[in-house]
Amino acid sequence: MSVKDNLLKIKNTIPSNVKLVAVSKTKPIELIQEAYDTGYRVFGENRPQELKQKYEELPKDIEWHFIGHLQSKQVKYYASFVSLIHGVDSLKLLQAVNKEAVKNDRIIDCLLEFHIAQEESKFGLNIEDAFQILKSKEFAELKNIRVCGVMGMATFTDNKEQIRKEFKKLKNIFAELKKEFFADSDSFKEISMGMSGDYLIAIEEGSTMVRIGSSIFGSRNYI
Ligand SMILES: *Cc1c(COP(=O)(O)O)cnc(C)c1O
Repeated sequence: MSVKDNLLKIKNTIPSNVKLVAVSKTKPIELIQEAYDTGYRVFGENRPQELKQKYEELPKDIEWHFIGHLQSKQVKYYASFVSLIHGVDSLKLLQAVNKEAVKNDRIIDCLLEFHIAQEESKFGLNIEDAFQILKSKEFAELKNIRVCGVMGMATFTDNKEQIRKEFKKLKNIFAELKKEFFADSDSFKEISMGMSGDYLIAIEEGSTMVRIGSSIFGSRNYI
């Protein structure tokens, strides 16, 4: 199957109110161009330098999402053009993004990443961390970021009920933050959850944004 066929097939399984982020990390420019030529414009990358290089080589109307783990010093690679940063999980990183946003005279949209999986190794906040950040004076001072919602990754498992439970948890976290901190914000509306293996469950549980890589571009040799 070609990238084009894969994309069309996946698109047919996603309701129109859910955004598909085509995760092109590790994949060559040619494959992204192929997806672009089918009319697709939203791509996700997880390595800052790779993202920057692809941005420079590909058409400028692409909406680029950064889905990787952030490092303060690397935000500069994509701060001027990124549409959405999915995985922010500390005040320090929010401050780093804000600083680069100020330099570029823009507001950068971010999602707060939550730890919903069982695995120890995955990044992300818990709800208490998030409350602490969002209540802080330091956070209130960050004028060049806009927190648009939440992001999370479920445990890598075949146990569908486990996955469903974790997505429900993220949905609940979203609802709690919305009520407590963002009741008046129209931009706080995104729940980024669901990958190739679990996006259908994520959509059933209220995902507004799915991040799909291997089902579109084929499997990767590395993460
Ligand atoms: C790689 C990656 C994806 C896409 O994974 P697939 O299983 O290939 O669909 C989604 N989200 C994040 C954060 C990723 O790093």
